[in-house]
Amino acid sequence: MRTTTVVVGGGQSGLAVSACLSVRSIDHVVFERNEVASSWRRERWDSLRLLTPNWQCRLPGHGYQGGDPDGYMGALEVADFIDEYAKLIGAPVLSGTTVEAVRPGGDGYVVQTDQGEWHCPTVVLASGAFGLPKVPAFASAVPSGVATLTAMDYRNPDQLGEGGVMVVGASATGVQIAAELRRSGRDVLLAVGEHVRGPRMYRGRDIHWWMEAAGVLDERYDEVDDIVRARRVPSMQLGGSDDRATFDLNALTGLGVKLVGRLAGINDGRAQFSGSLRNKCELADLKLGRLLDTIDEWAAAEGLDGSVPPPHRFEPTVVDASPRLQLDLRSGEVETIVWATGYRPDYSWLEVDVLDAKGMVRHDGGVADAPGLYLIGTPFLRRRKSSFIDGARVAAEDVVGELSSYLDRRPSARD
Ligand SMILES: Cc1cc2nc3c(=O)[nH]c(=O)nc-3n(C[C@H](O)[C@H](O)[C@H](O)COP(=O)(O)OP(=O)(O)OC[C@H]3O[C@@H](n4cnc5c(N)ncnc54)[C@H](O)[C@@H]3O)c2cc1C
Repeated sequence: MRTTTVVVGGGQSGLAVSACLSVRSIDHVVFERNEVASSWRRERWDSLRLLTPNWQCRLPGHGYQGGDPDGYMGALEVADFIDEYAKLIGAPVLSGTTVEAVRPGGDGYVVQTDQGEWHCPTVVLASGAFGLPKVPAFASAVPSGVATLTAMDYRNPDQLGEGGVMVVGASATGVQIAAELRRSGRDVLLAVGEHVRGPRMYRGRDIHWWMEAAGVLDERYDEVDDIVRARRVPSMQLGGSDDRATFDLNALTGLGVKLVGRLAGINDGRAQFSGSLRNKCELADLKLGRLLDTIDEWAAAEGLDGSVPPPHRFEPTVVDASPRLQLDLRSGEVETIVWATGYRPDYSWLEVDVLDAKGMVRHDGGVADAPGLYLIGTPFLRRRKSSFIDGARVAAEDVVGELSSYLDRRPSARD
């Protein structure tokens, strides 16, 4: 079978691309191995709420229309929102169709699915940036008496034994899970490496409102000094809740979570923590200060100072003078380890020479390093917000613009 563009993945990114392709009358098909928005249905823990406010759920031609724009939808509500979008735009999604291989062939690509083979000049990889858990190699050294699970396997506290838990990783996922487990009555140790501190509210508004208004989320990939590093920056410590609670380390310490440094290794059953906890926290405090400076400067320049509360700064992160550096994992103190150490994409089916040493697609703002191949949904693809729901909108318009120009340069490719 033949089409002009194959889109791999029926999440928000693939659908946003589909909408933009339709606007340009580019014939296409979207392959989805499960059902539309399946990552929101299958890969999130039960209590997850968006860390972005509902009003920021915007896809091409469609936005949040519920009654709680300043709230934070649960994962299943997000899935429904995306599902509704797929119907609204009439996306040509073939659900239950797994792409098993994409390889160069014919006048572009051969896409091998479990339902047959397709040929097309252009392919958009929208298969998700967070489809696999990233776990350190030394995880295999965890003593057998300690249960381990990744954030992708975690659903709720009832899954775990009653004993102590170590959550490894203090980005958005780790802090939310640590808080939930602590609230369930368990002793919780949180291993903290590099992290991005963020308050939920600042000067009476959601921090995402400020970041959008001040242009922080729209910063372009070709404007930052070190895009490789920017693409690796962890997610901000945020969560969504009715009381608009902050999920920074001071909030967690207030709940009774104990902080230790980055988990650097496991030797002889002993977890070794880095001594850099204080440094990492100071750095995160400093960066938060810089973000708030940017916001305050923007607010002043826009003449908002009279209409919102005055600028203020948050207490520095409180850290023990000498946090522990070791933990005997055979002592019974920790019964379960939750790896909240990040996610990575799965391109095991991509047989095109575009992957770098870390298994990431080499690309320039979503234009992959192979003719006719495009990427969407990865962190800082074109803008800081690229991997957010709202980011898919702008990224899809830009990437489909590039794809369309490519087709215009070889008109015979259009079906
Ligand atoms: C824990 C967590 C919380 C997040 N919270 C927020 C938030 O609050 N706000 C926000 O804006 N963003 C959030 N994000 C980021 C982002 O919005 C989500 O990751 C979102 O799911 C990305 O959408 P996507 O379409 O790019 O990828 P996905 O939703 O992962 O969709 C990719 C689709 O491709 C399919 N697929 C993969 N491989 C194949 C294949 N070989 N063949 C066929 N189909 C395939 C998958 O089944 C999947 O449905 C969060 C991410 C995570 C991990």
